[in-house]
Amino acid sequence: MKSFRKELTFTVPSRRAYINITGQVQKCIDESGIKEGMVLVNAMHITASVFVNDDESGLHQDFEKWLEQLAPEKPYSQYKHNGYEDNADAHMKRQIMGREVVAAITSGKLDFGPWEQIFYGEFDGKRPKRVLVKIIGE
Ligand code: ZN
Repeated sequence: MKSFRKELTFTVPSRRAYINITGQVQKCIDESGIKEGMVLVNAMHITASVFVNDDESGLHQDFEKWLEQLAPEKPYSQYKHNGYEDNADAHMKRQIMGREVVAAITSGKLDFGPWEQIFYGEFDGKRPKRVLVKIIGE
């Protein structure tokens, strides 16, 4: 069995964003030389997510609105976590959207349904943050 590890770094200029990272994950699979196996992609920070969904801007606006209803960013004073930091909402948004994605690799490609894409969800940006890509297989 072969294994491959790589960190991707994202520096998002805004507090929140959704970035399609499917191409970068596929590039890691290409680099690994693994044809049959599994890939794990996880945010290494507790205020960011990695998830699978559709690449559609209306949907991303809907996620933004929905997450703001569930865990509004402001007022910062509504959260006990805030004070030294102001990112309690980002911790909660990450909890809802998830930490990681595990996907199958078949014939060297992500074995996805027609609309599945991998996204990095940033909820407390403006600084470099890392995503781990771990691939195992042969
Ligand atoms: Zn925090």
